[in-house]
Amino acid sequence: MADGVRRGRIDTVRPEHDPIRMGRAPRQDRHGGEVYVYRRTGAPCLVCGTAIVTTRHAARKLYWCPRCQRRPAV
Ligand SMILES: [Zn+2]
Repeated sequence: MADGVRRGRIDTVRPEHDPIRMGRAPRQDRHGGEVYVYRRTGAPCLVCGTAIVTTRHAARKLYWCPRCQRRPAV
């Protein structure tokens, strides 16, 4: 929380996925700081590089990495 107040944004990625540590540009989005999937459709997953996908579900958008966030086996 203190980091979020100090930076004026909320980053929810692990330190190893921070833009500086990964050598990538910071996320530019009016909805906030660094995230793994939210509003990153088509962008590479920060963990595995697979393109993030999205779909509509109950009038909301769902974002996920199809490799890291597979449907559990039943
Ligand atoms: Zn992934």
